[in-house]
Amino acid sequence: MDRAIAVINAGSSSLKFSLFASLAERPLVHGKLEELGRAPRLKVQAGDGRVLAESSWPEGQRMSHADGLARVLALMPQWLQGHTLGAVGHRIVHGGVAHHRPVRLDETVLRELDALVPLAPLHQPHNLAPVRALMALQPDLPQVGCFDTAFHHGQPELAQRFALPRRYHDAGVRRYGFHGLSYEYVASRLPALDERAAQGRTVVLHLGNGASMCAMQAGRSVASTMGFTALDGLPMGTRCGSIDAGVLLWLMDEQGMGAREIERLLYQESGLLGVSGLSSDMRALLASDHPAAQEAVALYVYRIGQELGALAATLGGLDAIVFTAGIGENAAAIRERVIAGAGWLGARLDASANAAAAGGDHGAATRLHAADSAVSVWVVPTNEEWMIARHTAALMGL
Ligand code: ADP
Repeated sequence: MDRAIAVINAGSSSLKFSLFASLAERPLVHGKLEELGRAPRLKVQAGDGRVLAESSWPEGQRMSHADGLARVLALMPQWLQGHTLGAVGHRIVHGGVAHHRPVRLDETVLRELDALVPLAPLHQPHNLAPVRALMALQPDLPQVGCFDTAFHHGQPELAQRFALPRRYHDAGVRRYGFHGLSYEYVASRLPALDERAAQGRTVVLHLGNGASMCAMQAGRSVASTMGFTALDGLPMGTRCGSIDAGVLLWLMDEQGMGAREIERLLYQESGLLGVSGLSSDMRALLASDHPAAQEAVALYVYRIGQELGALAATLGGLDAIVFTAGIGENAAAIRERVIAGAGWLGARLDASANAAAAGGDHGAATRLHAADSAVSVWVVPTNEEWMIARHTAALMGL
């Protein structure tokens, strides 16, 4: 195609972007504007890793998402290598009940997506801000929304239901599941890697700053550890994961905490950071001999083991386990401990393959299981950006 596709993944304090000029997985460029609210930094790299641009702004300087986007757009022509920009695909965390496939973004759709902000308050507004900014800057440029909830849309009704009165389910209080673009990418890679994993019962572990697990039957999501919000399931960098709802009542009644305070506690002060008291970064915790750091890692592995058992039960057995995202792709020590705990399911690791498997940008998928393992084990480096580019190209006919 002579039309390039830009992919934008906007978070609370960062704006990641990529440019794809063909349906090849490697982008023309990819880059990141970080620390928008404090001391912005920009780094742009070519598909082969060469650094194309790097700049930083002084401490205390803030940059809005709209300003950041305008800067990236101003730089973009030099990276397009003769292509014209045909469309922009956005990662949007929540599509709600209505949006379960990629959609062309216009004012009507944006209003529907705005209504979902209360379901994903820390992600959805930041995902939508660049769409509006771009509409104002380049109203004729087609924009496409790709949703993290979409891959889970077809889960059985039971997997989506909370045991609350029906009216809440009907009002949208249900389990949606997230990280869907990552799971969809992994599912798309499985047929070429492992036919049994592609056709059978597979649990994918997306272990990044946010973390979740997805049970797939023949490449389709049947259950996920994340539910109504991206807070549920596993402990994460700073999020607590599943918690007895009674704790929240206690925080309100006995500690006098309000909703915003509780939100901050559960989303930003808990998880690996909260338990270790040191860091949300798995690298720092694995390198530390502090008992609280080791306990945070142990709790992380323990909860993965519990969820793996639950998802294997949901699937009625297990054929494959796949690791992806920052921790899943890079932390051999975590993979080793997870698979040691999954010995009862028949999983056995090839220790040297595990130690050698490294992720990184667009790293290769690697087989990790020993010859006598009843369950195959893989690392498949995720590529959500490429998934978005493919959806955008397909929807826009590029
Ligand atoms: P995000 O969810 O923000 O996209 P990533 O998928 O990049 O996050 O994952 C970030 C996590 O991956 C961090 O906890 C980081 O410590 C961890 N990580 C990255 N590289 C390594 C490594 N070599 N060893 C252990 N953990 C790593």
